Amino acid sequence: MLLIGSHVSYNAKTGLLGSLEEALNYGANTFMFYTGAPQNTARSPINDQLLEKALEKMTEEKIQKNKIIVHAPYIINLANTEKYEFAVNFLKEELKRCEKLQMSYLVLHPGSHVGLGVDKAINNIASGLNEVLKDTTVTILLETMAGKGTEIGRNFQEIKQIIEQVEKKELIGVCMDTCHLNDAGYDLTEFDQILTEFDQIVGLNYLKCIHINDSKNPMSSHKDRHENIGFGSIGFEKLIKIIFHDKIKDIPKILETPYVEGYPPYKKEIEMIKNKTFNQKILEQIKENL
Ligand code: FE
Ligand code: FE
Ligand code: ZN
Repeated sequence: MLLIGSHVSYNAKTGLLGSLEEALNYGANTFMFYTGAPQNTARSPINDQLLEKALEKMTEEKIQKNKIIVHAPYIINLANTEKYEFAVNFLKEELKRCEKLQMSYLVLHPGSHVGLGVDKAINNIASGLNEVLKDTTVTILLETMAGKGTEIGRNFQEIKQIIEQVEKKELIGVCMDTCHLNDAGYDLTEFDQILTEFDQIVGLNYLKCIHINDSKNPMSSHKDRHENIGFGSIGFEKLIKIIFHDKIKDIPKILETPYVEGYPPYKKEIEMIKNKTFNQKILEQIKENL
């Protein structure tokens, strides 16, 4: 079954129930959320009643709870030593929040080495992961990155090098991002080949999530700017092939495409993906809230 959803909002007032309802409104059967603002680490306590209601509604709506994704804030950087302590402590708290919310997966950007060099950065990331994974049941998914600036995780080798050093391998996985792969230099025309390469280097069993985004920039641009499905350099056909690829059919596909003049595009994009037919007028329809 196709598991498709998008990034949805989460706020203290409506909690997980609000996120779930937003996803259901988009016609999604899975989703991803940040437990607070993506760009900062301010977090409010979890409301038990809203959580209870959300969990009940998930059962009613046959949402697979164990496939829902939490995303860690992107300012968390385990790669560099400067804010390392802070990052480790925040991650420990975040993993506790995930457990409380009964979520199984936390997506994490590996980090940026900021001049430290790739090897040292990889060691830092791995020791940070080993520390936070000591006392949790949540799996951390390392995201494949575009290679913007000094980002780590711009190829499968770097991801492999991190995983090699992780002690609890049962609690580590990978989240691919189609925009990041394209920007990092992977040719998505050859997605079969990409999966084969991933399997040989990392192991397909580690792949637990895929972010589906088009890219505003050409292959190998190392930019990381997401575009709406079908309007970027990857294009609709390639993304559809990836979304419906047999080898990854059970893993959640999450849209992180940009809002269109303030309107979330996800309902329309999900509909278009399910139809497997590109809708030329989709951007106007999103703006007009049709
Ligand atoms: Fe991400
Ligand atoms: Fe992503
Ligand atoms: Zn991105």
